[in-house]
Amino acid sequence: MERLIPLSIPNFEGNEEKYVLDAVHQGWVSTGGAYITKLEEMLAEFLHVKKTVACQSGTAALHLALMECGVQPGDLVIVPTLTFIAAVNPVRYQFADPVFMDCDDSLCMDPVKLRKFCETECELRKVSENGQDETCLVYRKDGRRIRAVVVVHVFGNLADMEAIMDIAAEHHLRVVEDATEALGSAFETGRYAGKMAGTIGDFGAYSFNGNKIITTGGGGAVTAADPKELEHIHYISTQAKDDPLFYVHDEIGYNYRMTNLQAALGVAQMEELPEFIRRKTDNYLNYQKMLADVDGGYLLEFRADTRPNYWFYSLVLDDEVIARAGGVRCVVEQLRDKGVQTRPVWGLIHQQKPYQRSIAYEIEKAPYYSERIINIPSSTQLTDEDLKYVVECLKEIVLI
Ligand SMILES: *Cc1c(COP(=O)(O)O)cnc(C)c1O
Repeated sequence: MERLIPLSIPNFEGNEEKYVLDAVHQGWVSTGGAYITKLEEMLAEFLHVKKTVACQSGTAALHLALMECGVQPGDLVIVPTLTFIAAVNPVRYQFADPVFMDCDDSLCMDPVKLRKFCETECELRKVSENGQDETCLVYRKDGRRIRAVVVVHVFGNLADMEAIMDIAAEHHLRVVEDATEALGSAFETGRYAGKMAGTIGDFGAYSFNGNKIITTGGGGAVTAADPKELEHIHYISTQAKDDPLFYVHDEIGYNYRMTNLQAALGVAQMEELPEFIRRKTDNYLNYQKMLADVDGGYLLEFRADTRPNYWFYSLVLDDEVIARAGGVRCVVEQLRDKGVQTRPVWGLIHQQKPYQRSIAYEIEKAPYYSERIINIPSSTQLTDEDLKYVVECLKEIVLI
């Protein structure tokens, strides 16, 4: 039989069918229903926060967070360039513009460059907004206000939050954590010991898209440090209804609420999340053992002193093996021909058509990693046999 080992597929070994059918039978399939609140509660408990708000996608979660930050047309928002584009597009939904920041060796935002940018290219100014005096960071060249920074925990690896939170506090920046890939990743030591990805900054965004660690088909959630802000996010995500009977709306709202059908799937997935993380951890450690003494590339490590969710595994290939194979595309294609699905890391966002004229600050490491990394299969269903086969194929094609 032909083997096919996909990169990352959903796992429905639990109560998914039962709960989704239950939602259908109850007739609660839309944006009201008990599974939505249940999912929000389970997530809050898992993340050790008071409340979460479920929504349609991780992209919607990020958009809601940026709106709540008060991002205005013409503002600037600092974002990574090495990420999925959905982390950046919501900045444009607000008619603001991104400032692209480089990554460090964790693939997450480089705090050293972030600080350097804030200190050398920007300055703090007193402004008056909505009749209130406040201090804000402005970009010196054009005087535009920098409202926030979006920090992505890439592939489940935590960004250097101690450094980033300090920089943000000193420079009056709001912090949106894009934890769409990092549900369950947590710090083990330091100032944020025990804290989960997405619960450290002002806002945390999660995604339950089909390839994430848990899925609702499509879906997401937001959490916020300030309960009033989270309440307001809930309000604008549900059409800003002030009176549900007479349909009074005091603000522009969005149809961003998760449906009960999605949430039914989500509740079943939340029950399995700890087991998913356990399997992904085991598989990563197995790969690590099998790839320990190969040449031609290495498995990227996760940040020390953290407990990552091990969502995606990154293999960094040496230049020679890429050249010998005829380029990263050929590596991916040759592996595909053997039934092993892999993927190069995303195209950098500051080089994408809509963003080529945006500010990009000293981008150096992101191109290096984006040209050399492939993600290797990481689904929770992988067996030891599968892992062995993947490694065999890798050895045949790229590793020595
Ligand atoms: C998946 C993802 C998103 C968007 O989530 P959706 O639920 O697909 O909208 C945003 N940012 C990053 C880094 C992601 O990986």
